[in-house]
Amino acid sequence: MALTRREVMKQAGALGLLGAGGLSGLARAASERIIPWRNWSGGQACIPAVRVAPADEAALAEVVRGTRDTIRAVGSGHSFSALVPTDGTLLSLSNMSGMISADAQTLQSEFWGGTRVADMGEPLLKAGLAMLNMADIDYQTIAGAISTSTHGTGPKFGSYSSTVVGLRLVTATGDIIDCDAKNHPEIFNVARTSLGALGIITRVRLQNRKAFRLHEKIWVQNTEELLEDMPRLIKENDHFEINPILHSDVALATATNETTDPHTKPQQGGGDGDGVSALMAINTYARNHPQVQAALLNTFVKRMIGSDVVDDSFRVFSHVRDQRFNEMEYELPAEAGPACVREILKTVREQNLNSFFPLEYRYVKGDDIPLSMFNGRDTVAISVHQDYRLDFHNFFAQIEPIFWKYEGRPHWGKLHTLNHNQFSKLYPHWKDFLDVRAALDPTGKFLNGHLRSVFGVTC
Ligand SMILES: Cc1cc2nc3c(=O)[nH]c(=O)nc-3n(C[C@H](O)[C@H](O)[C@H](O)COP(=O)(O)OP(=O)(O)OC[C@H]3O[C@@H](n4cnc5c(N)ncnc54)[C@H](O)[C@@H]3O)c2cc1C
Repeated sequence: MALTRREVMKQAGALGLLGAGGLSGLARAASERIIPWRNWSGGQACIPAVRVAPADEAALAEVVRGTRDTIRAVGSGHSFSALVPTDGTLLSLSNMSGMISADAQTLQSEFWGGTRVADMGEPLLKAGLAMLNMADIDYQTIAGAISTSTHGTGPKFGSYSSTVVGLRLVTATGDIIDCDAKNHPEIFNVARTSLGALGIITRVRLQNRKAFRLHEKIWVQNTEELLEDMPRLIKENDHFEINPILHSDVALATATNETTDPHTKPQQGGGDGDGVSALMAINTYARNHPQVQAALLNTFVKRMIGSDVVDDSFRVFSHVRDQRFNEMEYELPAEAGPACVREILKTVREQNLNSFFPLEYRYVKGDDIPLSMFNGRDTVAISVHQDYRLDFHNFFAQIEPIFWKYEGRPHWGKLHTLNHNQFSKLYPHWKDFLDVRAALDPTGKFLNGHLRSVFGVTC
């Protein structure tokens, strides 16, 4: 029976197939238009031959089984590094999203891998639960977030990956593996942070806690004073971070603590756009007059910023970042944090590096996940940003060697220039991951060029 193009599109839609062809007659016919992909910052882009968003696990397994070329999973495209780009198949779990279950006894929940973190807070709250800690934004999918060890701040809190108690993986053969500490423990061990290189994560089971409220207080203070006082600040606050303002003497400090105080009035919506635009304007005006620049920034930042909020934890943890940028972040032994950030600030000033985004300086608890940036050590995470319209190469090239000096490991989702040679020395259990990856995906179906360089896979 001959199908019209409209009928073909309808049937392909029912199968959850999007984009350009290669899987089946239907999908191929439905996909004459190639849809380019790019990440949040616009720094990564590709033209996949096939884009597919399966409707359920059975359809997803069929896609994986039937595909011979590369498959890369994509979440919300919020990684800056080249984890996702492929000219093969780009697979999204956008049709597999939402809460599957929550258990008030074990304080655990299960979500579909394609669930955006922003869509997890409300259903968890209804079940009386909450995430232990959260990242700075909540646009990521949960599968994407755990794949790069996405983290928030607080020396007693690990990354999202460290809260995973089980997950379901569709492997290169299309087989489904449920893994946790008891079932396939060797796979579970490495799959908690896997860069999409072991297979497609369809479900994630998380350790949560009882729902709670947070009090967030933001203030401005001299950066050096904050660094001197850091041991006390991180001891006395559940979550603490600073954002030193480049070319100035001041930083934003954010202390976030559990509270039973009542909710404050909801804050006006909006993100950090106005603040970042003002920093950009000062940078443009005074860039070649460092003393004027510092004086303007010190005055402006002290006047502009300050906040005091009590709300449900998930509303306080996450912020809106509406000024796009590219980012490099390294994770260093916690005790090296102050010295490293001082050196970065000094380098930026001495070389008059052209960037105006604040630094981020956060704490993360160590874990035992082979590919986690936090493996085996309590950590400080320091990141530098560059406006998406400005070239980041020179700026990041000046800063990256400072991170290396302090034995930093780059955040998997952010920009870096390392490859297998360096990673094999930075990660004590590197080979544990490589062995499981090679066993699950011997032909490298889930590898793109970037991951081949990361894992040292040449064939
Ligand atoms: C504005 C902004 C703020 C950020 N803030 C933070 C922060 O506070 N803390 C932090 O640690 N990071 C932060 N990041 C980085 C971000 O959290 C990570 O890069 C995260 O991995 C992005 O998730 P995603 O859903 O967009 O996944 P993507 O970027 O689309 O993919 C990331 C990785 O996950 C894999 N993947 C996605 N879905 C699946 C799946 N179903 N199965 C298997 N693999 C999969 C992909 O193949 C890829 O390797 C930020 C990024 C941006 C743009």
